[in-house]
Amino acid sequence: MEDLKQAILNMMAEQLDDGLKQLEEAAANLRMDQPEGSQNQQLLDDPKPITEENKFELNQTNLNLHELHMLKKELDTQVAISRHQNTLIHDLKGQAELDLAKIYECQTKLVKMDDKCYKLERKLFKMQKKENLGEEELGDEELGEEELHFQIDKLQKELEAKDDICHQLEQQISQVYENPEYIEMRKQLLDHLKEQEELHLQEVNELRKELEAKDDICHKLEQDVAHVGENPEYIQMRQQLLDHLNEQEQLHLQEVNELRKELEAKDVICHKLEQNVAHVGENPEYIQMRQQLQDTIKCQEEVHLRDINEMRQELDLRDNICLQKEQKIEDLEERLELSTSCDICMETFNTSSHRLVALSCGHLFGESCVRECLRRNPLCPECRTHVSVNNMRYVFPRYL
Ligand SMILES: [Zn+2]
Ligand SMILES: [Zn+2]
Repeated sequence: MEDLKQAILNMMAEQLDDGLKQLEEAAANLRMDQPEGSQNQQLLDDPKPITEENKFELNQTNLNLHELHMLKKELDTQVAISRHQNTLIHDLKGQAELDLAKIYECQTKLVKMDDKCYKLERKLFKMQKKENLGEEELGDEELGEEELHFQIDKLQKELEAKDDICHQLEQQISQVYENPEYIEMRKQLLDHLKEQEELHLQEVNELRKELEAKDDICHKLEQDVAHVGENPEYIQMRQQLLDHLNEQEQLHLQEVNELRKELEAKDVICHKLEQNVAHVGENPEYIQMRQQLQDTIKCQEEVHLRDINEMRQELDLRDNICLQKEQKIEDLEERLELSTSCDICMETFNTSSHRLVALSCGHLFGESCVRECLRRNPLCPECRTHVSVNNMRYVFPRYL
């Protein structure tokens, strides 16, 4: 079968090759004819006077040319078709090779299967032989069969038990449905739902009525509005308002006119004043007055400058006095600092043994220090004056 397919394909390919060759030959012949065509072209280009004969020749040449073009086109298409068919043949060859490979694979598989079949047949034959030999040799296999039966029984029992459980569950479910409590509860719920539905329906109806009432009111109001436009009272009122507005407009116009006149009058006054101001600048009296004022201001300025100078000098004097006083204060502070400590031990005085005491020469010391000094030598440690312990005095009481 496959070989046949391959043979047909090869034959087709050969035929196509032949056709292609023939077409190529035809094309070569046409190319040989081409010079005639170019001669015709020369005839066309030749600027000879056109006679009847020439006209006929020209037409003939044109026809020939057209025919040649057509033939060339046909040839081109034939060549293209041949090429396409060639590629198709090539593809088909590839496909055929693939198919062949598959067939080979199947054949090898088939051989293997045959082998297996043969082996199985041999096995079967052996088993039949064994069966014929005697039942005592098949004891083991019987045991296996018994076990299988036992397992099947067990599974069937389990299945029955599960069926029972299912049945019980179904019964329980049906009991729940028949349970009076459940039925009662369901009924109550249904009743409740029905009541609520009725209430909602009532509400909806009421709302609808309200809506209709409001629609009526709207309609009436619209009618009223339409009537108001035609109402003689309304028309009269409108006319009155318009009259009032007109009057007010007239009044405002009058006011505006008056204000404009006033403005013009004031403009005139302003102009006059401007002229006056210009004249004042040139007035000799004004110039003299101005000069006098300037002189007065200058005198006053000089007086003020003198005052300022005097004040500045006084300020400097006072600054000096202040500085002196500050110096004095500093001196006093220094002396105070000195007088708070004993010149012998340089320690501060206290209210017990080192109390502040004055000698008859006026110098001050700590009591314990000066007593010690005078016990060795009765002279003031500061000025070397002869002093006595009996003339020593406390400067402050023990407790102030
Ligand atoms: Zn001292
Ligand atoms: Zn002294």
